[in-house]
Amino acid sequence: MKVLKFGGTSVGSAERMKSVVKLIADGNAKIIVLSAMSGTTNSLIEFTNYLRNGNPNGACEHSTFLQSKYKQTIKELYSTEKYANLATEKIDELFSHLRELARKPLTDALEREIVAQGEIMSTNMVVYYMQELGIDSVLLNSFDFMRLAANGEPDLDYLREHIAPFIDPQATERIYITQGFICLNHEGGIDNLQRGGSDYTATLIGAAIKAEEVQIWTDIDGMHNNDPRIVDKTSPVRHLHFEESAELAYFGAKILHPTCILPAKLAGTPVRLLNTMDPKAEGTLIDNNLTRPGEIKAIAAKDGITAIKIKSGRMLLAYGFLRKVFEIFETYSTSIDMICTSEVGVSMSIDNDRKLDDIVSELQKYGTVTVDRDMCIICIVGDLNWENVGFEARAMEAMKDIPVRMVSYGGSNYNISFLIKEEDKNRALRALSETIFNAKK
Ligand code: ADP
Ligand code: ASP
Ligand code: MG
Repeated sequence: MKVLKFGGTSVGSAERMKSVVKLIADGNAKIIVLSAMSGTTNSLIEFTNYLRNGNPNGACEHSTFLQSKYKQTIKELYSTEKYANLATEKIDELFSHLRELARKPLTDALEREIVAQGEIMSTNMVVYYMQELGIDSVLLNSFDFMRLAANGEPDLDYLREHIAPFIDPQATERIYITQGFICLNHEGGIDNLQRGGSDYTATLIGAAIKAEEVQIWTDIDGMHNNDPRIVDKTSPVRHLHFEESAELAYFGAKILHPTCILPAKLAGTPVRLLNTMDPKAEGTLIDNNLTRPGEIKAIAAKDGITAIKIKSGRMLLAYGFLRKVFEIFETYSTSIDMICTSEVGVSMSIDNDRKLDDIVSELQKYGTVTVDRDMCIICIVGDLNWENVGFEARAMEAMKDIPVRMVSYGGSNYNISFLIKEEDKNRALRALSETIFNAKK
């Protein structure tokens, strides 16, 4: 059985819901994981913001805007009065519940319950639509099987055990619909898997039921080997290793978060990224195979990077120096992306500079500090095992006219990163594309 996840953009309107249903009703049993309709999660967060500001009336007023969007979608989605009424009843009930929640004192638990309503709405809408079309479809309540363990991580054993009774192996055409993102926590309260968590739900279910494939459907074309907005000749990336996709996720490519693909990676379940706007396209397959060893798959870039260098004679032959430096970043909850070291200096890059001044003044206790802003990380991803020869040289060759602030290679077998000025980004992406992808054609 396959598990298919459709994001908020893919169920964002009646028209989009119709195309999703057309796409999934192919006569094969499957599990469908849905996000909230696009805009809903943000709108529910705004609802909680009103409550935080002590304005429950504002929250309720805000919710009526959202409700009218649902009313409109219902009008456009259903062709029979029966199902339009069923959907209206359900949506009205959920909105009344939301307004009741607005009268309670705001707590973290209440906030999570409010934010959970979006997925409950979208899944109900789609199931009623499928039933109207006579499709064998069943709504699964994710609270019945999706649960966080005491450590706050999803409980895969619980999921495996509790989803199984809902799946009927005899029903070979049945479509199961469930909510992405939302779950219960260890105490039984409503919780969620954080932003973008629907992808996570899909890979967790995929791993739990040993799905033959998990498909992540979104409204954009799968991965490209370079940024199509900047480089003319890009081509789709048909295949990535799980490690390669993790590297790309860190370096800004809009692709699955590494946490979200981990269950699939561990279970060996292939993940395919597909485009709802172009359903026949092959998409990008992510799995544990290195299909073409030695191949460079993609180039990605991330702007808004700050480089920090600390130079100190004290570092020479000393131990514990790096620990002191890293502790400062830890104290200010700032994550380091790239690191390069020499015998007497360390350069690091960060993408969140909110605590930069504090970090710099702490670092100055240990050495001379220099900061370069408006930098960009360029990340080259593929089979870059150090025993392969030639790839680093080609990447360096492409960068020959571009001032490079840092180079990082060898942290994993799958990437080389360059830190350059933001203003050189387009030039670098084009040069790399030419040298790495086009020269060999
Ligand atoms: P979904 O709602 O399907 O989960 P995503 O979380 O993948 O969608 O993306 C959220 C939004 O970001 C979508 O509106 C999508 O169009 C947009 N987006 C995703 N990837 C890219 C990209 N590489 N470039 C530009 N926009 C993107
Ligand atoms: N609706 C949630 C969000 O916007 C979860 C998801 O779509 O993945 O983050
Ligand atoms: Mg998403």
